[in-house]
Amino acid sequence: MDPIIGIDLGTTNSAVAYLSEQEPEIILNALGGRLTPSIVGIDEAGVVLVGAAARELQVVRPDRCVSLFKRWMGSDRTVTLGGRTLTPEELSGFVLRSLKADAEAFFQKPITRAVVTVPAYFNDQQRKATIAAGRIAGLTVERILNEPTAAAIAYGFQGADENKIVLVFDLGGGTFDVSVVEQFDGTLEVRSSAGETSLGGEDFTRTMAARVLESVGLPFERAEATLPLVVSRVLQQCERAKCQLSREATATIRVPDGTGDLVNGKEVIVTREQLEKWVAPILARIEQPIRRVLADARLTREKIDEVILVGGATRMPLVVQRVRDLFGREPRGRLNPDEVVALGAAVQAGLVERNAAVNDLVVTDVSPFTLGIEVSKEFQSETKSGYFDPVIDRNTVIPVSRMKRYTTMQPNQTSIMVKIYQGESRRVGENLLLGEFEVQGIPAGPRGQEVDVRFTYDLNGILEIEATVVATKKMISHVIARHAKGLSEASIRKAVRDMEKLKAHPRDETRNHYILTRADRLYKELSAEHRRFLGSLIDGFEAALESREPETIERYREGLEDFIAEFDASNDDPTGNSDE
Ligand code: ADP
Ligand code: MG
Repeated sequence: MDPIIGIDLGTTNSAVAYLSEQEPEIILNALGGRLTPSIVGIDEAGVVLVGAAARELQVVRPDRCVSLFKRWMGSDRTVTLGGRTLTPEELSGFVLRSLKADAEAFFQKPITRAVVTVPAYFNDQQRKATIAAGRIAGLTVERILNEPTAAAIAYGFQGADENKIVLVFDLGGGTFDVSVVEQFDGTLEVRSSAGETSLGGEDFTRTMAARVLESVGLPFERAEATLPLVVSRVLQQCERAKCQLSREATATIRVPDGTGDLVNGKEVIVTREQLEKWVAPILARIEQPIRRVLADARLTREKIDEVILVGGATRMPLVVQRVRDLFGREPRGRLNPDEVVALGAAVQAGLVERNAAVNDLVVTDVSPFTLGIEVSKEFQSETKSGYFDPVIDRNTVIPVSRMKRYTTMQPNQTSIMVKIYQGESRRVGENLLLGEFEVQGIPAGPRGQEVDVRFTYDLNGILEIEATVVATKKMISHVIARHAKGLSEASIRKAVRDMEKLKAHPRDETRNHYILTRADRLYKELSAEHRRFLGSLIDGFEAALESREPETIERYREGLEDFIAEFDASNDDPTGNSDE
């Protein structure tokens, strides 16, 4: 039986893991990294880059790279890179394909099945888009798993006899998610979930960059407009310095002016204390979602048995301190916070794979939004439409099936339009239309003819609506696929074909390509003298690549790597693992 892999398809970073014997383990990428940045780029030759290589390219060619596309999953938004228009499903598909290749290199055989995680608040369309991204990458998504549930699984909160309430605190690169997960009779259930879609480590980095630029006399906004490359370089440096400050008391940032000199001729030193002062006001925004998640789960802080830390930004001592203060207990952080979700996905994948074991673990999730249909209401003699009638309430445990009975409002009305919405407002206008269909064949007669509408929401978050005319038992069923355009069978097949046409960077050459991209970027920043030297090293390396002789390539690559290590202050760690 081929292994099933577990994938955390993150906004900032993604990771792939598998279940070995009993322990889930991260699979390393081509650069030896444990995390793969969720960044896609297309270089001048039209070759697709994913991960750290794309992140390097993004510093100098932001127009050729895209990140944060997880935020557009399930929407119509597209992006044009190197003359190609790409959907968020295709972009995620590139990331998945790269992780799949890493798993295949590890197992030395084709991998076609995966468990992929999504945020608990992902709606139906976003989940379907994630499944489509898998298809585009050549992966069958066996299960969609909520990220907080995956984190709880990684910490072993499943199958055990004790009943516990776990709070999952996930502060990633661009989002903050907090969920209450209940372990009950050996099952795991997300009871409620809340968050902030634009709060994360990225905000800390940007704040830091703004302060650093200010300190050398460059207001952030003006610099962004006039010196975009200096800004992207400073952002890259601040990102590195921020992580360093989670371990050390000070970090140094160089602000290169594009000719190898430093802006104002000086390096900027930032202390952990300074950084903490700068980010504190942003971090305060975690409090409201925490209040909401507890209120939704009808719990107080004291009722929480365990707090689990997830997301790279929880490596910051200040964040751990805030969590400790807020919950009055030491949070669980034994596992690397940016790997927990992939590890949990791998456990779930192992359970699916071994089939027998899967029954031991019933993971249930919740509906992240209220789902319902549009109804009209009668006021005196006036009928007003546009009201939202909930069928499944927010935070209802899924799978769930609920039925409601509706009646016609006009005499001889033989059809009803069923319009399905998600959202929390009383008026449909403020909620999101998921789909609609018409129920015909209602017997003519007085008003008040009955139609039963059943909503069935499955574990993968796929919503099916059935309407039955009570008098005739005639049933019409409808599966929600609002963005049918982006997700139809035909368009997925087309995306798969397009993907095959697009040349991806071969995995075994990734290391060489990564080094070349970094060298190119560094070249632009160096003084003339160092430039000439680096230029000759790059030429030599390119000639070595042409020669296709592994030893020669390695020798030149090492020379280049040494030079970069010496001159590139960012000294970026391609393993993406700041803990080791
Ligand atoms: P996501 O869930 O958004 O894909 P991650 O959980 O990988 O992302 O978190 C990424 C964020 O974590 C980034 O903003 C990164 O700067 C931050 N991060 C990673 N390591 C550290 C560290 N040692 N100290 C502070 N922040 C860190
Ligand atoms: Mg994450």
